[in-house]
Formats: sequence, structure tokens, C-alpha cells
Amino acid sequence: MHRICNPKVGGSSPSAGSIPESLSSGYFGHLRGEQRRFANAPGFDIDLEAIPRKANAQSQGFNGKGMVAQRLDGKACAAEVEKQLLSRISSCKENGVEPHLAVVIVGDDPASHVYVKSKVKACERLGIKSTHIELTTESSEESVRDVILSLNQQHGLHGILVQSPLPSHMDEEALTDLIHPEKDVDGFHPQNLGRLVQGRMDGMLPCTPSGVMRMLSWAGIETEGKTAIILGRSRIVGMPQSLLLGAKGVDSTVTVAHSRTKDTAKLCANADIVIAAVGRPEMVTEDWIKQGAVVVDVGINRVDDSSRERGWRLAGDVHPDVANKASWLSPVPGGVGPMTIAMLMENTVRAAEQSNAE
Ligand code: NAP
Repeated sequence: MHRICNPKVGGSSPSAGSIPESLSSGYFGHLRGEQRRFANAPGFDIDLEAIPRKANAQSQGFNGKGMVAQRLDGKACAAEVEKQLLSRISSCKENGVEPHLAVVIVGDDPASHVYVKSKVKACERLGIKSTHIELTTESSEESVRDVILSLNQQHGLHGILVQSPLPSHMDEEALTDLIHPEKDVDGFHPQNLGRLVQGRMDGMLPCTPSGVMRMLSWAGIETEGKTAIILGRSRIVGMPQSLLLGAKGVDSTVTVAHSRTKDTAKLCANADIVIAAVGRPEMVTEDWIKQGAVVVDVGINRVDDSSRERGWRLAGDVHPDVANKASWLSPVPGGVGPMTIAMLMENTVRAAEQSNAE
């Protein structure tokens, strides 16, 4: 790991092609003809039988009453994604390209530092080079801007991630918009999100929603013709998640709920698939859920817990009792979190491969 506190970076800008790996071993692998508009790049020509599936996956076995939900184990799925990445990373290195991710963190938010540490650790596990750039809370927006522009120019650096949230005196969206789209491994640049809206998968896909898709695919969960509800409409989770679930080849019928939605519980109760990304601890309760629904909990919330030595615990947006009704439920921690990191690693490797293909 390279740690830079007052970075000076430079060089010439790499460029990239377009191989949509982040979903290539997911739902989109089987698309043919017209449908491939959403999956129109070479990476989608894959052998479906080769897709790793969870050993005990059922094709759609919605559980009957009295059964407990199967664990949608993001940690195990992420481990498989990482395993697959190892050979791609070796190939990159054989071709003289060492995948390289820069993580920029501003300020001392403890949760953000934990997330950055996990990302750097994942890089170390996989043999991806990482550069960790720390700036103080008092740094100016201009200085963060200079770091991003400089990283954009650095040849041999393939991915740039600016850890959210940035201090309140900074315009986070304006800053992340500065990241070169080909190095935008978070997938938040308007060019990458715009492609997604167009139904194209040849840009960088946002890590959390694409991680959810990969996890559903890995567990063998059917989405075609299913009703799905996304709780939350954020730029980084809810909105791209709705596009991915409603995409051709995935074919769910999607409702997006937000803070102004009326009777969210009733809408939820009709859904086959519920994705909760609201940031409200355990908001989704058992009575909201249809028997046998698939429930993915994106939320990560710290709640007070005097029974723990540290005084808090992590809670999702979904109450654990939902396991009594759902057929599948992702845990927190150990669900979407590890998938987000795995997709970040995959985007970084993809960016490195594309720079080599130029
Ligand atoms: P966000 O930007 O704060 O967005 C929250 C969304 O939830 C907003 O669209 C908001 O509606 C909606 N909402 C709030 N209260 C609601 C309610 N009562 N009913 C329905 N919708 C409601 O949060 P985010 O960045 O999307 O993150 C959401 C959660 O996921 C957080 O807990 C975050 O920590 C977690 N997260 C986890 C990962 C991971 O890797 N596991 C990654 C990213 C985020 P309005 O638009 O109307 O305000």
C-alpha cells in the first residue's frame, strides 16, 4: 500500500475500452439479439454453465409459512468474485499492467476510515496496488480538486475513489464529477450513470447496486416478471438499482419508494423482491413483507447497544424478524457490504484491462 498525505501526482492519462465485466457473469450473460442492447459488449458472450452459483441455491423456491429465510451470503459471494479476479489480475501483470486504485479520504469520520481500510485490505488480498491519500477536514475544495485532476493524469493508475461523505463545506457531486469516467470505479460519473439510463452496460457500474445484482444471480434468484420495490432513490444506490432490476434481461417490474411515498408498507407487501436502502435502522418489519419474498438489506446503521462493550452495533434497514417471512434475506454485516468492495475491485481490474487493450 502507498500512503500519501500531501500528494503530488502526475503523468499522462490512460484510456480505456469497454468490457462490462461487472455484470458479465450475472443476469446479462444470456442475452441475445435485440436484448443485447443492454449487454452489447464482448464480455457478455459467456458460458452460463460456468457461472458460479451458491451450492444450495434454489431456482426460485419461495419458502412456505413457518420456514426461515435462506441467508443471502454476500461474504461468500464476494469471496468467489475475488477468486475469479485473481487470474485476471495475473494476466494484467503478465502484460505489464499492475491494477492500481487510488482512494482519497478527507477528514476524520471514523466509519469512512473503516470503509477505506477495508478497501485497501481487499487490494492487498488480491495484489492490486493501492494509493491511500488522506487530507484533513480543513482542506479546501480546491485542494481535493487538484488531487483528483492530478490522479486523472497519472499513467498506470486505473481507478480513483473519493470516499463519501466529504466535509460539508465541499460540493461532493461536483468533485466526483471531475474523476475521469474511465477511472470512475465507483460508477457515479454522469457519463457512467447516463449509459445505464440508456440501457447500456459498457460504462462503470455503481458498486453497491451491481453487487446486489451479482448476489441475486449467484443465489439463482429469478427476477423475470417479478415485482420489485426499491426503498430509496439515491444517486449511488436506489436509482441505479431500479435501472438494473428493470433492465432487459433482468425484467423485473420496479417501484421506487422514497420519503414522500404514501403507504410504503402496502407497496412492499405486494413485492416479490424488496431492496431496502433508506438508512433507517430496521424500518422494514415482518408485516411489510409478502410470504416468500426475497429481501436485500443495503442499510448500514450504527445503533446504540449498551450490551456491547463498544456501546453500539450495526443494524440494517430491515428488522431481523423479516427472516420469518422472506425466502432469502441478506445479513448486515456480511451481505451487501462485502459485495460493494468486490465490485470495486472488479471495476478496478476492468479499468486496468481496458487501459491495456488501448
Ligand atoms: P441516502 O442518500 O440518504 O438516501 C436514502 C433514501 O431513502 C432517500 O432516497 C430517501 O428519500 C429514502 N428514504 C428515507 N426515509 C424513507 C422512508 N421512511 N421511506 C422510504 N424511503 C425513505 O442513502 P444511501 O446512500 O442511498 O444509503 C442508504 C443506506 O444504505 C444507508 O444505510 C447506507 O449506509 C447504506 N449503504 C450501504 C452500502 C453497502 O455497501 N452496504 C453502500 C452504500 C450505502 P428522499 O429521496 O425522499 O430523501
